[in-house]
Amino acid sequence: MYDEFDKMHLWHPYTSTISPLPTYKVKSASGVKILLEDGTQLIDGMSSWWATIHGYNNASINAAIENQIHKMSHVMFGGFTHDPAIELGKILLKIAPPNMNNIFYADSGSVAVEVALKMAIQASLSKYHNPAKCNFITFRSGYHGDTWNAMSVCDPVTGMHSMFGSSLSARYFVKAPQCGFYDEWNDSYSEELENKIKLHHDELAAMIVEPIVQGAGGMRFYHPNYLKKARQLCDKYNLLLIFDEIATGFGRTGRLFAWEHANVQPDIMCIGKGLTGGYITMSAVLTTKSVADSISSGEAGVLMHGPTFMGNPLACAIAIASTKLLLSTDWKSKIKHIESQLNMLMSPAKQFDNVSEVRILGAIGVIEMKNDVVVSEFQKECVKRGIWVRPFGKLVYIMPPYIISDSELKFLVENLLDIIKPNDGQI
Ligand SMILES: *Cc1c(COP(=O)(O)O)cnc(C)c1O
Repeated sequence: MYDEFDKMHLWHPYTSTISPLPTYKVKSASGVKILLEDGTQLIDGMSSWWATIHGYNNASINAAIENQIHKMSHVMFGGFTHDPAIELGKILLKIAPPNMNNIFYADSGSVAVEVALKMAIQASLSKYHNPAKCNFITFRSGYHGDTWNAMSVCDPVTGMHSMFGSSLSARYFVKAPQCGFYDEWNDSYSEELENKIKLHHDELAAMIVEPIVQGAGGMRFYHPNYLKKARQLCDKYNLLLIFDEIATGFGRTGRLFAWEHANVQPDIMCIGKGLTGGYITMSAVLTTKSVADSISSGEAGVLMHGPTFMGNPLACAIAIASTKLLLSTDWKSKIKHIESQLNMLMSPAKQFDNVSEVRILGAIGVIEMKNDVVVSEFQKECVKRGIWVRPFGKLVYIMPPYIISDSELKFLVENLLDIIKPNDGQI
């Protein structure tokens, strides 16, 4: 099952070279099914980390790739432009918050976050001429990527802060949202945020958050009023508001983008992951005309970023095909349906002694265990049963491709519950 060369030489996400976690060799994938080299078939519960919203090997996306590749796979974006970049931009502005006007194409989610943070600082310096006003505030339990500044705004405990010591910039944190998405709101929930911004606004360029759903930092769903409050405070104290919609975008939470749950528009928005339907890495940062123009009238006169593969035509063509495909389906009803199925299928886990909470929003189902899960053991059980789920810490969660059928979803969740249910062979 395991490849010797891979084990000896290839790094996988967050693994040791001394005792690497096992890896399963994939031969191909189609729809919601991943086929391993040894013939085992797995129902995908992860959408390859939020990304493959239409499943694998989709005919219309494949066709878009073939069509584009015979024209050009890549051409530099410095000095050139092309139809795929322009068409994608038009589509994105149609579905983005109405205040968005300018788009920066980037390579990955983490890079999008880097660019968003740079935008905020350049805009803030240009507008307020205060070199001290260039820090960030965010919630604990957030996740914004693995690159340097993205990492600095991730949760300082579950993130990697202590390992990098003083080389990582210190940010302002408030406690993770305590009022859940479905809970009753009262204003005391946002007091800490208000006090911190009031006290430190002269040092703050922006607030960055994942709207509604905190992903890899804890899989938490929080109340829309946090975003309303954040918007008010950012306006009052001259901070920009950045929404990282890299995980929540393209329908996952039941809305096309999570800001819609609160009807709060950010100043800067990052998208990625589902943007290309999980086919290839690409991200984008959208912003308002006001922010873009502030940047352009600042000291540098330009936004100081420009990746080699910016606006890659092949990636743009894929993103166009994926987004058009999504918008051509009744994705909203489909996500609602997955949500109700998840509610029904996952609810037995609430009774398990080893489970502390089950929570569901849109096409995301989370089971928070009382203890950490041993990933390698857990995944062995998954593969044995024909499902693919990758937990981290205490969190066992699924966000399947939207095309999953009722029977496939039932198979996925029933087997998942069978693995975690308290018994002799407890994981
Ligand atoms: C995955 C993720 C990122 C980082 O994206 P990469 O493509 O892995 O660099 C940033 N923010 C959020 C909310 C994410 O879920």
